[in-house]
Amino acid sequence: MKLLVTGGAGYVGSVVAAQLVEEGHEVTVLDDLSTGHEDAVPDGARFVRGSITDAGGVLRDGVDAVLHFAARSLVGESVEKPGLYWSHNLGGTLALLEAMRQAGVGRIVFSSTAATYGEPERTPIQETDPTRPGNPYGASKLAVDTALTAFAGLYGLAAVSLRYFNVAGAYGRYRERHAVETHLIPNVLKVALGERESVSVFGTDYPTPDGTCVRDYIHVADLARAHLLALDACAEGVHRIYNLGSGSGFSVKEVLDVCREVTGHPIPAEVGPRRPGDPAVLVASSEKIKRELGWKPDHTALHTIVADAWAGCQKPESERGL
Ligand code: UDP
Repeated sequence: MKLLVTGGAGYVGSVVAAQLVEEGHEVTVLDDLSTGHEDAVPDGARFVRGSITDAGGVLRDGVDAVLHFAARSLVGESVEKPGLYWSHNLGGTLALLEAMRQAGVGRIVFSSTAATYGEPERTPIQETDPTRPGNPYGASKLAVDTALTAFAGLYGLAAVSLRYFNVAGAYGRYRERHAVETHLIPNVLKVALGERESVSVFGTDYPTPDGTCVRDYIHVADLARAHLLALDACAEGVHRIYNLGSGSGFSVKEVLDVCREVTGHPIPAEVGPRRPGDPAVLVASSEKIKRELGWKPDHTALHTIVADAWAGCQKPESERGL
């Protein structure tokens, strides 16, 4: 298929683009490089530097489907600059959807998030659970999910939204490298790499077994594989939504211990205050995507996820393309 991957120079987008190229698809990556890296665009994919608000030209090249990752994704930044999130994530996506409609491209797989749920009422979270995002990032992603449902009903768009829980690990040379790093695993590994003195544990007084927050870590390779299944499952006039997690929760302290085990570094940690807006426990039920699309995670052990993330950081500069 001829596929357009928006945000394909970012972490998840580059892994999906790489897997699509491996499967023999003809891939064009559209990315404005505001947070992505051009050298993360996989070999074999065409790269177009540009905005999703200006995708008409690329779409008219005979694209069969779009995989849409381009977005702002920092929760804290979204609280400080909500307008940026609404305009990029919702406004940008609406422009993209309109350009798709005009070009006659009727299929989209969308990168959504567990942040659409907000503080959950029960664990594990199911797709039918209430969506009450606690920040503009989650709200902007939820608004796109709502728009996709409307476009499916109105125009026959075939859409799948994948709601990611905590994505981690690396896939070959494709790894997480954000200019502003907020995520736990890469921040902990920075300590082992000597790039930080210590890591701060955001709160130890949560109602969890060891007092630290519990999250559902999913390997980026497993997550990416779900996009290929979603692409095949797109059906005209239908918008499907699936959670994507491993189904088991690990606390911040457990993550730290596994990182120490994998790296052999003591990784000093300090207890800091809670980070505003962090729910105590976020664990996905991924039963729906397993049942309907036959998805199955291959790397559920936290040790493997961390070991792959660590191997990604260890690669020589030349292979990392830095
Ligand atoms: N966390 C932490 N120290 C850090 C980064 C994150 O204690 O330097 C905690 C954070 O409060 C949350 C968990 O680790 O409970 C996972 O956070 P992350 O930002 O990786 O993902 P989120 O769950 O917010 O999407």
